[in-house]
Amino acid sequence: MKEINAVDFEKEVLNGGKVVLDFYSTECPPCEALAPKFEAMAELYGEKIKFLKIFRQGNRELATELRVSSSPTLLFFDNGKQILDTISGGIKKSEIQERLDKMLTIQEIVAIKANQKKIVSEYDVVILGGGPAGLTAGIYLGQAKIKTVLIDPALPGGYMGITHQVSNYPGFEQPQQGFMLAHYMSEQAKHTGIDFKVAVDITSVDLVKKEIVIDKLETIKAKKIIIGTGTTPNTMNAPGESDYKGRGISYCATCDAKYFVDKEVTVIGGGNSAVEEAQFITKFANKVTMIHQFDKLTANQTAIEQLQANKKISVMYEHEPRKFEKRGDKMITFVEDLKTKELKELESDGVFVFIGFKSNVSVLGETLPEMDKWGYIVTDEDRKTNLPDVFAIGDIVSKKYRQITTAVADGTVAAITISKEL
Ligand SMILES: Cc1cc2nc3c(=O)[nH]c(=O)nc-3n(C[C@H](O)[C@H](O)[C@H](O)COP(=O)(O)OP(=O)(O)OC[C@H]3O[C@@H](n4cnc5c(N)ncnc54)[C@H](O)[C@@H]3O)c2cc1C
Repeated sequence: MKEINAVDFEKEVLNGGKVVLDFYSTECPPCEALAPKFEAMAELYGEKIKFLKIFRQGNRELATELRVSSSPTLLFFDNGKQILDTISGGIKKSEIQERLDKMLTIQEIVAIKANQKKIVSEYDVVILGGGPAGLTAGIYLGQAKIKTVLIDPALPGGYMGITHQVSNYPGFEQPQQGFMLAHYMSEQAKHTGIDFKVAVDITSVDLVKKEIVIDKLETIKAKKIIIGTGTTPNTMNAPGESDYKGRGISYCATCDAKYFVDKEVTVIGGGNSAVEEAQFITKFANKVTMIHQFDKLTANQTAIEQLQANKKISVMYEHEPRKFEKRGDKMITFVEDLKTKELKELESDGVFVFIGFKSNVSVLGETLPEMDKWGYIVTDEDRKTNLPDVFAIGDIVSKKYRQITTAVADGTVAAITISKEL
């Protein structure tokens, strides 16, 4: 692997045969997450493909010329021509490998894979999930000098990272942007010295043997496991929903509301998330129609009052979506009036769905801890599950209130309990 500058571009890249070029920046957590994976790939594929790194801030003109607008970004070249699609952000090993394999012959790939060594690493504690719960556990365990690794298929931060503004996390006079809070928390955890393995593929989890395999290659063994894998938004399973997911139907206002400037939006749901996110969407959209199955919103009173004062929002009570279609650029939501059974067509530019969450337990292997009837993990007050040396923290725990403060509290309790036991 070699570091280059813009002046070397012609010689090293355009006349360099098969090349993968990494535009990285400093103070860039996804770049830090990529660095060890890029190095491991360079060791494996280095004889056939040249691995180059280039500092984006120091080579801005070249970056602009190559349409690189975020860090890290990987570009692939063959005989001076840019090939394949670029990848950026939280890049997984499998995404790089998929592209590198396309640059080689089958014989070359077989030879390379034969050289691939399985890795086994041992830790005292594995934390599954880098949301506020997992990061807090990491801070406490790192400060207690317990050998800990935090594993996440995404970049750290969990929901905090995609929450527009957090106004109820203590310690800040003004509302904080969620991604900044996520950044501070994950940097704080890293500074304690724990290992991060993020943007990885979780191949398997065995909570009984306490073994986790990532990227099909690395087995991580631990004395104790903390599960902080959080939740995933519920879907309605209405006809058309999966067809238009990401193409008219969204589950994340922070991610997608900005595309609806001066447009009309339909919001499904009536709890806290739906009410808060509908408010946020009106920063962009000029009209929001909420569809709610009950005759009252189920959010907290302050949120309801704010919503009622917002002239851009109206609510269709006692209605339920039944089907989604697209006509031209417009989304059509077919809603049933639950009182009259009449089916109505509601036209809008986009639909947002906020109807609760389900726990992320499906990836936790065959032997799961005891769960409540909604699929959330039952723990005692130390956040121990019924499986020996397996803890659960944050939103995945069976409990009444799911907030950042309750998640960080769980992380604290589990980590202190573990520090006393090890
Ligand atoms: C839109 C929205 C707005 C919110 N606003 C607020 C607010 O203003 N204030 C507040 O206090 N709370 C808010 N919340 C709630 C708060 O974000 C959650 O309670 C909190 O993030 C839960 O933390 P967690 O660590 O348990 O889970 P999460 O934040 O969900 O993090 C879970 C992590 O686990 C990872 N993961 C998933 N599967 C696996 C796996 N198999 N292995 C390893 N890792 C895995 C995920 O990638 C993720 O990083 C909001 C939630 C939403 C959805």
